[in-house]
Amino acid sequence: MTNSWGNVNRGDQSVHSIQFITDDFPSGKSLLPIGMRRSYGDVCTNSNGSVIDSTRLSRFIRFDQVNGVLVCESGVTFWEILNLIVPYGWFLPVTPGTSFITIGGAVANDVHGKNHHVAGSFGCFVRSFGLRRSDGQVLLCDNVHNADYFAATIGGLGLTGLITWVEFSLKRAPNPDVHVESIEYRSYRDFLALSEATEKTHEYHVSWVDCLANGSSAGRGVFLRANHLSETLDSARKPTRTTRVVPAVVGKGWSLVNSVSLRLFNKLYLHRNSGTREYNEVFEKYFYPLDAIRDWNRIYGRKGFYQFQCVVPFENKLIITDLLELISKSGQGSFLSVLKTMGEIESPGMMSFSRPGVTLALDFPNLGTKTTDLFRTMELIVAHANGALYPAKDALMSVEMFKQSYPRCDEFSHYVDPAFSSDFWRRVYH
Ligand SMILES: Cc1cc2nc3c(=O)[nH]c(=O)nc-3n(C[C@H](O)[C@H](O)[C@H](O)COP(=O)(O)OP(=O)(O)OC[C@H]3O[C@@H](n4cnc5c(N)ncnc54)[C@H](O)[C@@H]3O)c2cc1C
Repeated sequence: MTNSWGNVNRGDQSVHSIQFITDDFPSGKSLLPIGMRRSYGDVCTNSNGSVIDSTRLSRFIRFDQVNGVLVCESGVTFWEILNLIVPYGWFLPVTPGTSFITIGGAVANDVHGKNHHVAGSFGCFVRSFGLRRSDGQVLLCDNVHNADYFAATIGGLGLTGLITWVEFSLKRAPNPDVHVESIEYRSYRDFLALSEATEKTHEYHVSWVDCLANGSSAGRGVFLRANHLSETLDSARKPTRTTRVVPAVVGKGWSLVNSVSLRLFNKLYLHRNSGTREYNEVFEKYFYPLDAIRDWNRIYGRKGFYQFQCVVPFENKLIITDLLELISKSGQGSFLSVLKTMGEIESPGMMSFSRPGVTLALDFPNLGTKTTDLFRTMELIVAHANGALYPAKDALMSVEMFKQSYPRCDEFSHYVDPAFSSDFWRRVYH
């Protein structure tokens, strides 16, 4: 039994770990490659099938320190990459809110980060990769060779074959750490105004929202914008992190997240971050605040939790307040939610989630039908606004919502390897 991050999807599947890119695939059952299983729902589970655990494909192949190009096997994690490149003045071109992910998972979900407005998604930096199909073919994929498989595999949810290695461009950052401005703001409209003012001045921004606030305060929160420090470090700095582990007993019983703990946490957070402050921050803390608490997903208890992430186009951006009102009234939302604007840079991925608009993401403890009903209503609001839901975070979207979110899914289905499948794919595409 292997779980995804939300602990709601527990795939009853056989796990086959491979160490070399030429190792045999298991036979007889449908296949799905997996990385660190940091996806929240069922894109990384394959009930009654096999999963190919790629985390032992963890070798670096080539690092061009002059031009900032890295080639590595698909099971290498973002944290391992940072350890290699940061001392040489390079940084990840795009990173999500955790460094516990593999490069294969980053390509297959075409992940995005706090710099989407200036950089686009991770797929924009992928130069080429190897793709191993179940019929034994190994395809070199780039803009010229197998360009159709290149487009289908970026954001292709592990369904087009096993990504064996990836070549991608890095970003110059003589100093990995950042100068942060933390700005308390009062409403969703303030968030929009701050985002607009920030897009040209700051490389990174994200906002933490109090999902309990409603009425004219709906969307209030703390806006965090940052740029890398300009002073070059005197000596090479190795990434460091101290990780606290959630005790094993947590997670076996009830969720620690409830309306009382939520109210208290949000109040404390907003109080601690009131007003406007400026400070320098080590990159580990700015980009990966949750990585400091290993297995934090266990606080939701044995029933687990769902994440909801949508993006709505700018012309319908005000619909986000309807979602925030609904979530506040339901009292089900979890600790701070994330709001962010996404920019115009188009991904090469046929199935990429990233697109221009406003994205909202937050966790919900699994309260059974109370939660699934709420998700259905939120989905309808997003559908009405011509928005999309993110498969990496999803466990509940409907067939109709998937088709609306990914209008090229029929074209994509021609590139799905006939031996590959996932719980997600069987749920949303038939
Ligand atoms: C705390 C936290 C914060 C996050 N923040 C963000 C964020 O800001 N932005 C964002 O975009 N995402 C975010 N995520 C989601 C996460 O970045 C993605 O789910 C990512 O894809 C997980 O990578 P993984 O290695 O764990 O892959 P898995 O979750 O194991 O798999 C993800 C997908 O990749 C496929 N896959 C994995 N390896 C391969 C391979 N070798 N070949 C082919 N397919 C493969 C799988 O089949 C699956 O479809 C966050 C997750 C967490 C837990």
